[in-house]
Amino acid sequence: MHDTLSLLNHSDFPAISRRKTEILQINIGLRCNQQCVHCHVNSSPKRTEKMDEETIAAVYEFVKDSDVHTLDITGGAPELHPQFRELVAEIRALNINVIDRCNLTILSEPDQDDLADFLAEQQVDIVASLPCYQKENVDKQRGKGVFDLSIKGLQQLNFLGYGKSDSNLKLDLVYNPQGPELPPEQAPLEASFKKVLMQEYGIEFNQLFTLCNMPINRFGSTLVSKGIFHDYISLLKKSHNNDNLDNVMCRNMISIDWQGFVYDCDFNQMLGLNMMEAGKQLHISELTDSRLEGNEITVLDHCYGCTAGQGSSCGGALI
Ligand code: SF4
Ligand code: SF4
Repeated sequence: MHDTLSLLNHSDFPAISRRKTEILQINIGLRCNQQCVHCHVNSSPKRTEKMDEETIAAVYEFVKDSDVHTLDITGGAPELHPQFRELVAEIRALNINVIDRCNLTILSEPDQDDLADFLAEQQVDIVASLPCYQKENVDKQRGKGVFDLSIKGLQQLNFLGYGKSDSNLKLDLVYNPQGPELPPEQAPLEASFKKVLMQEYGIEFNQLFTLCNMPINRFGSTLVSKGIFHDYISLLKKSHNNDNLDNVMCRNMISIDWQGFVYDCDFNQMLGLNMMEAGKQLHISELTDSRLEGNEITVLDHCYGCTAGQGSSCGGALI
């Protein structure tokens, strides 16, 4: 879906360039046990697209031979990929951090009852979406029954030590606003989440990451159909903070799609803004770390979503 791309062109977003690549984010496949209304990659149980063995081998080789310190795995539900566990174990054996972007409900799937134990054994960091601590809001956004299964998943992870202050098993949650507004300040919202989840369900977690909704794909189309696309872009621009430019995630991260093509970030991946070399789409199998440092990053108006207010990245607020 590149339907909002034409509206983002002719951007006045400041030019930025790449630093050393330290984080590799891969979309390992589009299959998911859920089918959320707002899913930006249109995942569902019916999707079959997945990274093939050669591309996974190329990911491993790149990580092994580069300064990458973290492999960040997304999907779909990444755990459904048949090679997920093998890849995680191989990367952890290199002493590289692994992040699993987990939807929590996957932990309750019948054939995944040993998944949480596997993640804990491998000391995989978990980043999980929980857009609200109220059942109605979560079920509305992510599907009926998702809140209860998410709570069950969080409790299961806590039982293994995830999110506990005396453990090194990290469990972070992700929040993004329901509509076209900036997320509230991260620290007070995190405090509210911690208070309510502990009081109501006995749940602990490490950090809450607040993310801005990006004016692309389905959210972008909704803004267009409501006639408020340009208002939202104006809000993002008005809230732009230059200090965030130093820390936007594309400075030290690259994003790889399930076919192995390379992008500056996940959002550019969704917009089909491939990294190009000599007129050709760059593929992970041809990539060496040092080739990217200093390269200009492809920026359009959606990038203001990363620099508005407190800033926004896959690790939450920037300042
Ligand atoms: S859990 Fe995530 S990947 Fe799966 S359908 Fe929902 S938003 Fe998409
Ligand atoms: S949208 Fe992507 S390219 Fe643009 S600033 Fe954010 S991370 Fe960088």
